Amino acid sequence: MNCSKCHEELNVYKFCSTCDLPPRTSKNKKIDKIIKEAQPFLEWIEYEEFNGIELIAEGGFGSVSKAIWSSGYVINFNKDQRKFIRSGPSLVALKMIFNSSNANSNTIQEVSGY
Ligand SMILES: [Zn+2]
Repeated sequence: MNCSKCHEELNVYKFCSTCDLPPRTSKNKKIDKIIKEAQPFLEWIEYEEFNGIELIAEGGFGSVSKAIWSSGYVINFNKDQRKFIRSGPSLVALKMIFNSSNANSNTIQEVSGY
């Protein structure tokens, strides 16, 4: 099935990642492009959405913390409201990788089920 507006192929939840979603931006064009292509499997999460962040381990390359992701995982999509249906507060692991090649120390974070 394809989107009636942009004719792109719909994703697994049968909606269009380009037209049907409220824009969520990382303020970084490269990252936004990656996120857009991988939606709904990859998304940009604001730091404020994590509560009770607790450092578990830290090393030269990065750190791992646990946290509660307040909105939670996408479990479905409500087409009428154009809204994700989420799992609610979920315990997750936050992996932060220090980027030594960049003086601004940009980090890539990975969120995975805990
Ligand atoms: Zn579309």
